[in-house]
Amino acid sequence: MNLSIPFLDLKASYLELKTEFDDAYERVMNSGWYILGAELESFEAEFALFCRTEYCLGVGSGLDALQLVLKAWEIGPGDEVLVPSNTFIATWLAVSHCGARPVPVEPLESTFNMNPDEIEKAISPRSKAIIPVHLYGQTADMDPINEIAASYGLKVLEDAAQAHGARYKGRRAGGLGNAAAFSFYPVKNLGAFGDGGAITTSDPELMAKIKSLRNYGSSSKYCHVEKGYNSRLDELQAAFLRVKLNHLEDWNQRRRKIAGYYLQELAASSYSLPQVPAWAEPVWHQFILRSPQRDKIMEYLQRQGVGCMIHYPIPPHLQSAYADLMLISGTCPISEKIHQEVFSIPIWPQMDDRTAHRITEVLRRQF
Ligand SMILES: *Cc1c(COP(=O)(O)O)cnc(C)c1O
Repeated sequence: MNLSIPFLDLKASYLELKTEFDDAYERVMNSGWYILGAELESFEAEFALFCRTEYCLGVGSGLDALQLVLKAWEIGPGDEVLVPSNTFIATWLAVSHCGARPVPVEPLESTFNMNPDEIEKAISPRSKAIIPVHLYGQTADMDPINEIAASYGLKVLEDAAQAHGARYKGRRAGGLGNAAAFSFYPVKNLGAFGDGGAITTSDPELMAKIKSLRNYGSSSKYCHVEKGYNSRLDELQAAFLRVKLNHLEDWNQRRRKIAGYYLQELAASSYSLPQVPAWAEPVWHQFILRSPQRDKIMEYLQRQGVGCMIHYPIPPHLQSAYADLMLISGTCPISEKIHQEVFSIPIWPQMDDRTAHRITEVLRRQF
């Protein structure tokens, strides 16, 4: 009876495609070439095609992807970048590591994503860019965000780390702004077996600049035109990601099916369920429930052997790392309230019907 359900079973995705991963491993190991080679070039072409962008560049991580774009736009000390108050801290860190200041924008309670109506009051003469995050796998409302950005001359960088394959009005995340940053951290919808990230864009100048920045500021060997970085997606990870990219649509579809089941089974419960606007096709990176009794519910779930987590327990502006910004408690009340009430329940492509059934059964029993 008390079989325990993990929050996430990552090994299941490895086992499902094991022979394909084994082939990819053999191919790369036998090639004798491990950084910036044919696998990366193929993956970049395939992922750009998937996102419907002109270019894709593989880099070391999602954080690097965000940061390299901001660096390429020459955003630095004295500049401000608008970020969601409700996001994983990497979105903010990318701005800080460039020397610029992250300026929080509150989310819509219905979607957890940046509220376009809150953007203008956060803009100042120092503003240079906006980073909307497609949180939990659902895109932000990009049309009004792009309109405001255009009217103030700001760049738009999508943080698509949780949204591989998500659509906005039929168009894929990754091609909805001036550039997008993806993460291939293992738990993401498209995850490597180590760290990795990518930038997508259709801007040839940006693409050339980042190609140099990710490789020591050089476009021909040992000739360095700027002070670049070392941030490259390696051949093995690129080869593994090519395998998974072929299955991404199918895996996202399976996540949708589980999410649909949760929405149906929990419709009459007291939890607040995720809202999906008519224009959104989310990929359900996380399935988020909300309740003022969050802590009690999570304790109960854990006692019943159902894994659950909080994404995220503390908003960036209240983290010790950001004490220097002096954004005291109450600065972002909507985000702060969300952080106190949300919890995430298990969702992964290989989850079977029995497991999904057991989760909703446990959830419905008590609350
Ligand atoms: C995972 C994530 C990142 C960072 O990606 P890494 O590959 O871990 O550096 C950035 N933003 C969001 C929203 C994320 O979920």
